[in-house]
Amino acid sequence: MRRPLVVGNWKMNGSREQNTELLQSILGLLPESEKVELAVCAPFVYIDQVSEQVANTSLALGGQDVSVHVSGAYTGEIAAPMLAEFGCRYAIVGHSERRQYHNESNLLVGQKALSAIQGGLTPIICVGESLEQREIGSALDVIGSQLQSVKSVIGDQGLAKSVIAYEPVWAIGTGLTATPEQAQEVHQFIREQLGSIADGISILYGGSVKAANAADLFAQPDIDGALVGGASLVAEEFINIAKAV
Ligand code: PEP
Repeated sequence: MRRPLVVGNWKMNGSREQNTELLQSILGLLPESEKVELAVCAPFVYIDQVSEQVANTSLALGGQDVSVHVSGAYTGEIAAPMLAEFGCRYAIVGHSERRQYHNESNLLVGQKALSAIQGGLTPIICVGESLEQREIGSALDVIGSQLQSVKSVIGDQGLAKSVIAYEPVWAIGTGLTATPEQAQEVHQFIREQLGSIADGISILYGGSVKAANAADLFAQPDIDGALVGGASLVAEEFINIAKAV
């Protein structure tokens, strides 16, 4: 019922030349089977370039963030309809790096998810606990309240049009990965929180996913794919993660 999804988050990496090289390699290795959907989330300035290169392929495109506003005097912001105009299907919202370095609150993340949906995009809503929160046993409480805040803004109707990404902050870019059991425990909890609409919602895992650990993670019943940072910058790794689904 849920089609597996593997999304590459390029973060603030790339150049026109590097993007072309990476995309050509990814497109050359893209599995023919449509069992898995693949997407890349490029820096805003490269959205146009990537959009042209993935046109007429099965590789989808997304932004790494989105404004809560549709247009107007919001210097530096990018609106959802702008991303949609360039063929984006997704927008990541609430990535822990934005929560941490840009003080994004749970409520703002909900508003960004709403703005993405209203602009015709699917938000990839990131949730996850810090190491300290895990160590004191409050991981599920933290994730529950992150989800609740988003739900208070977009409701079940909005959640049904979203993808959730569980990304333990301590596993992002650190080489540490949640064990498949740790990840499954949280994914199952998230699914329970989603209630009656849960079956239709994809829940991705993110945090140092590589080709070598992907299959064990994807074998878990509530893990529907991955949000991949570092490994998405290496075409073979990225494709092998998708093949592990
Ligand atoms: C991410 O940025 O969402 C991420 C999971 O990064 P990495 O795969 O590098 O840990």
